[in-house]
Amino acid sequence: PSALAETSVDVLIIGAGPAGLMCANSLARAGVNFRIIDQRSSKVAAGQADGVMPRTIESYGLAQRLLDEGNQIHMAAFYNPSADGGIKLTDRVPGITAENARYPFEVTLHQGAIEAIFLDSMRSMGVQVERPIVPVSLEITEDVVERSDPNAYAVRVAWEFPFTPNTGLMTIRSHLDPAPGQAPIEIVNAKFVVGADGAHSWVRKTLNISMDGEQTEYIWGVIDVIADTDLPDFRNKAAIHSINGSCMVIPREGDKIRLYIQLEGKDVINADGRVDKSKMGPEKILEVARRSFYPYTIKTPKELDWWTIYIIGQRVASRYSVSERVFISGDACHTHSPKAGQGMNASINDTHNLAWKLAYVLRGWADLSLLKTYESERRQYALDLINFDKKFAKLFSGKPISKEYKNGVSHEEFLRAFQTFSGFSSGIGIHYTESSIVNSTYQDVASKLIVGKRVPPEMVLRATDSRPFNIQDLLPSDARFKLLVFTGDTSRASTLATLQQSADDLQSILTRYCAAGSITSVFDIISISSESKATILYNALPPLLRSHWTKVYVANINGLQDDNVYARYGVAADGAVVVVRPDGYVGMMRPLQKIEDLNSYFQLFMEC
Ligand code: FAD
Repeated sequence: PSALAETSVDVLIIGAGPAGLMCANSLARAGVNFRIIDQRSSKVAAGQADGVMPRTIESYGLAQRLLDEGNQIHMAAFYNPSADGGIKLTDRVPGITAENARYPFEVTLHQGAIEAIFLDSMRSMGVQVERPIVPVSLEITEDVVERSDPNAYAVRVAWEFPFTPNTGLMTIRSHLDPAPGQAPIEIVNAKFVVGADGAHSWVRKTLNISMDGEQTEYIWGVIDVIADTDLPDFRNKAAIHSINGSCMVIPREGDKIRLYIQLEGKDVINADGRVDKSKMGPEKILEVARRSFYPYTIKTPKELDWWTIYIIGQRVASRYSVSERVFISGDACHTHSPKAGQGMNASINDTHNLAWKLAYVLRGWADLSLLKTYESERRQYALDLINFDKKFAKLFSGKPISKEYKNGVSHEEFLRAFQTFSGFSSGIGIHYTESSIVNSTYQDVASKLIVGKRVPPEMVLRATDSRPFNIQDLLPSDARFKLLVFTGDTSRASTLATLQQSADDLQSILTRYCAAGSITSVFDIISISSESKATILYNALPPLLRSHWTKVYVANINGLQDDNVYARYGVAADGAVVVVRPDGYVGMMRPLQKIEDLNSYFQLFMEC
């Protein structure tokens, strides 16, 4: 290569952890031109995040491999102080509160294996991470930003290549021309940049984005081991509250378990307030765990997979983007206690929320203003998460109630917090508030399908071959809006007449937003009739509502009127149209007679 190479790309992703990899997968699936770089020379080998929550399992086409390779947590056990100074089993409850989840459990698998699922999926689409690459400068060209042209190259990022590990890491260079004998430099002109470069984010620091919040006094050791223990609940999630300290047991793939162990600051913190890992190795951490486990035992494991020590910081970035041209995501914009199993899930969900919006803007389908909803939706979520985390971490790290600690944490208090928290951390409860893409007027036409929340799983039958499907499988993250048209009873001539009118109106509206292609390239229309599977003629529906034989479904899988998707979603008998965003969240709904309102919805952010 020449000494100074200048290239261009639509989206540059910096960081290939869970956030960056989800972004890359979604953009690859949407056919967006992008590059993804990482400073590490390979993916994570062991340790780090390991919990995949119900929403993350159900939503991104990852489920099969996660279920095959991971461990499932169905039960949580609680151990509290016993009269003899040890611990005893107090309670067992479901491992996660996730009513209406398709997979109502947590899957645990080490981060490297989760990253491998993404990397394999990317490889199948011909994309890979470029590594090791460390960017050295990032500039946003303000006058390009002011032109509001999504196709203008507003950001310049530079790095040395080929990068030699251990040299020049993170050196900010004042000029970009390589001096004689120095490494050549590549300058990349990008339309958009996504910083997914973790908790110490270089992108965030370069943009001077502050992290608001504080460091807590909670210090935890983590070890991943194949443990020989007589704790009966070592294959359940076990929360141990002992007078000797708190500990959490997380069962993992194979025979592995993870232990989170509360540590004393004096044992591991240096005068400068930083954790000093040289002060306490895994064997010492295990010793602390043994005190909490008593009278149960853990033998020194034959195999130690990974260990670390950390202080919990509870912080959220003050903003998630600069000029909607450079974004930060994942740990780069929120950090919290890992015991909630949220770091990786929140990170994956950040870029899942962002990627389809970038794809729409880059294709010229949506206005740049759509990108503002990334921060408004995901930052609010992070703030809510930190609020929950503060309560939960305090209870978890607090001393259990006992003779000595009359004001300690009671089991009932902890259990209540655990259940409330796990409802939130499952991801199922995420509820985006009103915005240009969330409009809850007419919520009552499908009263239990909540606008701003993800579409819950329900079974329907395909009309043409009576094959059962879960609705979530009809809503893949393929960057298209899905329109669920609940047609009502199509055996009635009057219903078919109304439908024809609705279909004509819909055709005229959707055509406006598909100037460059067919309606089905932007919108996937799925019809669900309340007619019996025995009588439905799928081709009696107007052609727009059956663009392919796979697009017509019936609600009555078992012949029961009050136990089908209409009843479960609270859809009125005369039908409704529900707009589902490309990320699976309900955007708006209307009665079939109010189809023209879809225009008011789409015109707020889509280009005609
Ligand atoms: P990360 O996974 O941190 O990925 C960031 C990526 O960006 C990395 O691949 C990194 O190499 C790359 N990168 C960083 N800077 C640059 C740069 N300047 N240029 C190019 N690339 C760059 N979560 C838990 O739930 N439980 C745990 O016990 C736990 N332990 C952890 C221990 C450690 C040591 C770490 C680092 C994290 C831990 N986490 C844990 C957090 C969890 O790993 C994160 O929440 C999750 O990985 C966040 O995903 P992310 O993609 O935002 O960031």
